[in-house]
Amino acid sequence: MSEGEPSLFERMMSGEIPADFVHHDERTIAVRDINPQAPVHVLVVPRKRYRNAAELAGDDPELLAELFRVAADIAEREGVAESGYRLLFNTNEDAGQTVFHVHLHLLGGRQLGALAQ
Ligand code: 5GP
Repeated sequence: MSEGEPSLFERMMSGEIPADFVHHDERTIAVRDINPQAPVHVLVVPRKRYRNAAELAGDDPELLAELFRVAADIAEREGVAESGYRLLFNTNEDAGQTVFHVHLHLLGGRQLGALAQ
């Protein structure tokens, strides 16, 4: 994906590619991951495109906080708030980031393993 082309999430927002939305508002969307790593695996995404969490934190920390609030609401609705869930950003290649439009992974619904692999 070059910087000039719409990102995966922009293509979902425009309806160009299908997505299983679990949330949308003026500033954020959330979709189920196509290749879920847990029974609940949702991606929480700002509509405005930032390359990664570091860029988002620097440019709009309030929007970053909003991603966490939306994720907490979704965790409640998905029934994993009490049992537990994990929130993570992959940042750049070594972390396995493949989509360079920042997205917060919400994972839950099973016992999650150790963080580092
Ligand atoms: P990253 O590796 O960048 O942190 O996360 C990208 C995520 O997007 C991956 O978990 C991957 O499974 C998910 N993904 C890739 N293509 C699609 C797609 O077409 N639809 C959905 N819903 N998720 C996708």
